[in-house]
Amino acid sequence: MAFVLPPLPYAFAALEPHIDAQTMEIHHDRHHATYVNNLNGAIEKHPELGSRTVEELLSDLQASLFRDALDERERRTLRDPSGYDEMIEYLRDAAGFVAAPWCGRRQCEARVKDDSSATIRCLPLSEPPLESGACVCCGRPAASVAFWAQAY
Ligand SMILES: [Zn+2]
Repeated sequence: MAFVLPPLPYAFAALEPHIDAQTMEIHHDRHHATYVNNLNGAIEKHPELGSRTVEELLSDLQASLFRDALDERERRTLRDPSGYDEMIEYLRDAAGFVAAPWCGRRQCEARVKDDSSATIRCLPLSEPPLESGACVCCGRPAASVAFWAQAY
């Protein structure tokens, strides 16, 4: 089943003087038509998707992109480093995030920043506790898990 460009339900000039007829015609007959044609071209390559609605296709696409982003974030996250040196080396390489226990003291955050230029990017509320309960920087009991990374 091919998708069809629905006709504009009003005249191209209906929105003048705010949007001129030529702009409406270009957007509907060229841009919108190209989107529909490209969708039909993609469906031809994947006929199993032809019975899906646009809403279902976009929902599946968004879910897939979100899963891929989570996978990539996990692939680039060093969790519970063996020690301060491993954390700093990973951060200096700008390889991604480090999830490490943190005591909550500003001095520890400042030390990591001085040694790697990385800062805490997130203190997640729902992060499960890491195996190590000691601050990766000072060894005091951790107050939370912190995600550290280079800023762009
Ligand atoms: Zn600390």
